[in-house]
Amino acid sequence: MNLLVVGSVALDTIETPFAKASETPGGSALYISISASYFTRSIGLVGVVGDDFPKDVIEDLRSRGIDLKGLQIVDGGKTFRWGGRYHYDMNTRETLFTHLNVFSNFNPTIPSEFKSSKYVCLGNIDPVLQMEVLKQVESPKLVIADTMNFWIERKYGELLETLKHVNVLIVNDAEARQIAMEPNLIKAGKKILKLGPDVVIIKKGEHGAVLIIDGTIFTAPAYPIESIQDPTGAGDSFAGGFAGWIAKTDDISEENLRRAVIYGSTIASFCVEDFGINKIKNLSWDKIQERFMAFRELMRFEVE
Ligand code: AMP
Repeated sequence: MNLLVVGSVALDTIETPFAKASETPGGSALYISISASYFTRSIGLVGVVGDDFPKDVIEDLRSRGIDLKGLQIVDGGKTFRWGGRYHYDMNTRETLFTHLNVFSNFNPTIPSEFKSSKYVCLGNIDPVLQMEVLKQVESPKLVIADTMNFWIERKYGELLETLKHVNVLIVNDAEARQIAMEPNLIKAGKKILKLGPDVVIIKKGEHGAVLIIDGTIFTAPAYPIESIQDPTGAGDSFAGGFAGWIAKTDDISEENLRRAVIYGSTIASFCVEDFGINKIKNLSWDKIQERFMAFRELMRFEVE
């Protein structure tokens, strides 16, 4: 397996100042694996759902070539549910509820064919579960991970333990500040590098993303979108695009990590254009390439 994806598979209830969606399919593993499926056909997903999770979504994942041997479907169980409300700026949000449901008793079992995965993308889930996964994989070339305020607040010690085994940490600005206990983002990024990761990527919503590797900083803008429908999953689709590009090219040089940041930003920019997974499930390689190239134009300037 080229890319192993672990994370939540959810039914989300999302409110924006302009619209609402109830029980729409989401979760970190869903966003990551769909996004990465445009880059590689060798993806294994590990997660858990109840038997209330829509079968057509599972079929859609299968049709993308995503191997679902590691997706447990609990008979009579209820899928993880999350509710969030966005403020007027569509950038800040509050969590309305988190119902772990089948995730409360989940023990990730990595199928034997997935254990030798070259790349591992640990979506946002309990850091204890992220660590359980890492104990079962053999010797991945790169471990990419994400987390969230929910886990930073409840499992800080466990998260610090997991971070020791992570190569690339992808977090948003508030999460970076929370992990590092440092208000300045660059200082926060550098502090996180001391906790284990070799690379940290800090997402700043509509203000783009910063990649920090040791002494080097690369900043990328967000693609300017005039009609943002729903920011949910933007962070996860960023991670999916990033991980997908790295897995496709099998190149972890700094230059290629920069390209991966732009591919991540590209998929995230599509994600926010519609509710839930609606936009990212209908992309094509040509559309992705076109927007990727538009980023270049967005950043181009002449010295004289
Ligand atoms: P993002 O907007 O990229 O930060 O991710 C949103 C997704 O994270 C939603 O689809 C939620 O289902 C999922 N999510 C929210 N809270 C949690 C949590 N505590 N653990 C795992 N996944 C979560």
